[in-house]
Amino acid sequence: MLKYDYITIGGGSGGLASANRAAERGAKALIIEKDQLGGTCVNRGCVSKKIMWYGAQIAEAYRTYGPDYGFTSDNTWFQYKKLIQSRDAYIHRVHQAYRKGFETRGTEMITGKARFVEPHVLEVEGKKYTAEHITIATGGRPEIPNFEGAGLADTTDTFFKWKELPKSVIVLGGGYIAVEIAMLLKALGVETHFCVRRHAPLRSFEPFIIEGLLHEIEKLGIHFHPHHVPDKIEKRYDGTYRVGFENGENLIAEKVILAVGRKPNTEDIGLETIGVACDDKGYVVVDDHYRTSVSGVYAIGDIIPSVELTPVAVASGRRLADYLFNDQPLTPIDQEKVATVVFSHPPIGAVGLTSEQAIERFGKDKVRIYRSTFGSMYTATTQHRVETRMLLVCVGEKEQVVGIHAIGDGVDEMMQGFSVALNLGATKKDLDNTIAIHPTGAEELVTMR
Ligand code: NDP
Repeated sequence: MLKYDYITIGGGSGGLASANRAAERGAKALIIEKDQLGGTCVNRGCVSKKIMWYGAQIAEAYRTYGPDYGFTSDNTWFQYKKLIQSRDAYIHRVHQAYRKGFETRGTEMITGKARFVEPHVLEVEGKKYTAEHITIATGGRPEIPNFEGAGLADTTDTFFKWKELPKSVIVLGGGYIAVEIAMLLKALGVETHFCVRRHAPLRSFEPFIIEGLLHEIEKLGIHFHPHHVPDKIEKRYDGTYRVGFENGENLIAEKVILAVGRKPNTEDIGLETIGVACDDKGYVVVDDHYRTSVSGVYAIGDIIPSVELTPVAVASGRRLADYLFNDQPLTPIDQEKVATVVFSHPPIGAVGLTSEQAIERFGKDKVRIYRSTFGSMYTATTQHRVETRMLLVCVGEKEQVVGIHAIGDGVDEMMQGFSVALNLGATKKDLDNTIAIHPTGAEELVTMR
């Protein structure tokens, strides 16, 4: 039996960060990963997607805005193969950087599928490994709904393996992934149908911002289909797919992408063997120290009920390692104050409460909302104007800022700094007293009336 101080099952964002931090604190740490280092985020999510988003941004700059800046284009300018080659080469370098990081820190890593055989013993391809502390960080996978032919659709597991772009696509689902993929594919020239089961995508976001998103979806030329609940997918004689909807409508396209949520990878790792409690959706139940129902076994990332974002998994993994191996108190993450960005076109950034949440919590009289809508300067000189929308949610006499929401060019980068202000308890007056940077979109957030 090979003995360690700390083992993480899963070499995705959370597991990597946690094991590396433990090794930095002097622990003998092992990562067990069954597939590629970096997990969903690097290989089938954030990082891969962001490169494609950049590609789509370049396409838009060149084709949509370029002509008014004096650049001309024709239709033979884009090679998808080159984009994915550059993307995959970059991902390869990220994998190499991880391995180099292991060498520096002394973190060990093995490839294989781990399974609990006893509370502190894991089996990987016939060999046994033990540690006083074991963290489960196995991440999630796409949810496949239970309707006929659902398995025929692509998901993010297969979308990133496409060798060429289809002429047409149907994107099903209304969350982050669906919005991002539908908009980037359209920007890259694919005829795109985007189907959501209710009136709008991203229903937990501020309605004023989503209204702006819907305008841009329409302006981009996406065929948007609200109130379309898929109930059948079939492959047709010519290789295309037909999607049937509960309302009796049908759509046909070369590809279908399902992005209707994700589920935790908690099966098949022996959780039931050692008695780790999961909730009815399969998420591991943890306390505020990421402790599961089994002593010395922890869980972080997308397998616990929390905000499913890489930086949250990374922060929890590091805080847990510092708690276990560096005597640091474990400060829980305030999930309400985690900033988030949807890489739509243009992007959406948000941190804190929506106006509805604030009114529900503090009462209508205590909440003051500031809104602003303006044309982004980047597009203002072109035929294709893109609107920027910003909204501040302030509470109480001092008007403490409890929510910041925006859609527009550059808000993805803006939101990080503004989330620091919100986390520090900034008031509207603090924003007003901050001298603006001119001319930027961000200046609007400190000059709102
Ligand atoms: P989300 O959980 O964000 O959204 C799921 C969507 O699927 C909802 O809009 C839901 O509709 C819809 N849906 C559910 N079931 C069905 C169905 N049977 N038919 C049609 N639509 C359905 O899921 P994602 O998969 O997009 O993303 C998963 C998580 O990954 C996110 O929560 C996010 O935390 C993370 N992520 C973050 C990104 C970022 O930070 N930029 C990028 C990508 C993912 P309804 O609204 O009606 O309930």
